[in-house]
Amino acid sequence: MPETQTKNRDNSQIEQANRELNVLYEVSCAMRTTLELNHILYIILTGVTSHTGLGYNRAILFLVNPLKRVLECKMAIGPESGEHANKVWEYIENSNQDINDLIQADKVYKTINQASLFKSVKDLKFPLEPDSSFLLSQAYFRGQPWHLPPYAISGFKDDPFLRIFHTNELLIMPLKAKDEVNGLIIADNIYTQKPINQDDIKIFTMLANQAGLAIENSHLYEMVVLRSLTDPITGLWNHRFFQEKLAEELQKAAQLKIHLSLIMIDIDDFKKLNDTHGHQHGDLLLKSLAQILTSSSRDIDFVCRYGGEEFAVILCGASLDQGWDIAERLRKRIEEFKFPSPDGQCSIPMTISVGLASFPDDASNKEELIAMSDKAMYIAKFSGKNKTCFANHYKEG
Ligand code: GH3
Ligand code: MG
Ligand code: MG
Repeated sequence: MPETQTKNRDNSQIEQANRELNVLYEVSCAMRTTLELNHILYIILTGVTSHTGLGYNRAILFLVNPLKRVLECKMAIGPESGEHANKVWEYIENSNQDINDLIQADKVYKTINQASLFKSVKDLKFPLEPDSSFLLSQAYFRGQPWHLPPYAISGFKDDPFLRIFHTNELLIMPLKAKDEVNGLIIADNIYTQKPINQDDIKIFTMLANQAGLAIENSHLYEMVVLRSLTDPITGLWNHRFFQEKLAEELQKAAQLKIHLSLIMIDIDDFKKLNDTHGHQHGDLLLKSLAQILTSSSRDIDFVCRYGGEEFAVILCGASLDQGWDIAERLRKRIEEFKFPSPDGQCSIPMTISVGLASFPDDASNKEELIAMSDKAMYIAKFSGKNKTCFANHYKEG
């Protein structure tokens, strides 16, 4: 081979290696700027697909849900057709955007889930069972990069993932933390038809190692945050969360000009129950009551432990009348529930007094709303207990 040709080849290999190192550097720096999971996933997939990154045409990310033992689709990036691909790449080329610009465009990752590629795959879930015939379940147990050239793809032609994600060659890359797979990225080059080679797999593996750790860090952070905002006995949101969430939801309600109602609950004669059945059993009663409150309220409501044996429920978007229906449902369910005694031989009757107030009818800010629902709860207490009351209007149940 002539000397100049060898030099050209060496130079282009050095350039390629430089480019790849740069991708790793930029993606790992970007991942360190955030702990928010969706943003991290977006950074990873941008690194995999951008033309200044690894340059794959499409990439889909699945995460392991350890509780349900399934792989769940979380994000996908990629044009919807060859024509769309050309438009996107032309735009990026002309606007001179590198990975950092793409990642900084943080509005993008909030809208990315509206794209048709993601819509087509978002509901896919695969069980983590060792003998599963699903392609992605098998990829999880392999735990190694899996390159499927055309002949290997044809062996999975009835696979539910490949039925939706039509392709002729792909790479499945496991994401790992502490040697455990916590996700998978599936990437292909359906539009450019660029073959995937060993060097591509090597650099992708390095990016995947960093990605797996970043995902693990984000999970740990979310767990710590969750723990700091929940109550260990009942599992409900704690007082700190209640104060922060109520302020946030009131601001939203004011902006959107919608209602927000607040329910305050105090257990009737709880001291007697503690004295009769013991404090430990009292804790179990609190736990059962919390479960009833959660299952009897709407998914959009926030059920919180306000303190001791007092609870608060934030009812987003609920008028006083809607709040009344929910409050009465909670009160009646608890009145009817048969809480077991410590020996399980008989049931313990338990009732609650409920106060209800609404924004903007009864109060214009957080402090007033809490004071008004508290006042309503005391009206319920002093007018005979086991009832729901308003602070300003006469109605009781
Ligand atoms: P009232 O109908 O007037 O509300 O009567 P009450 O006995 O429920 O009075 P109060 O609301 O003042 O009761 C507070 C009691 O709740 C006293 C305390 O022993 C009990 N309590 C508070 N927090 C806990 C807890 O975490 N576990 C248990 N077991 N009991 C608690
Ligand atoms: Mg109390
Ligand atoms: Mg009480």
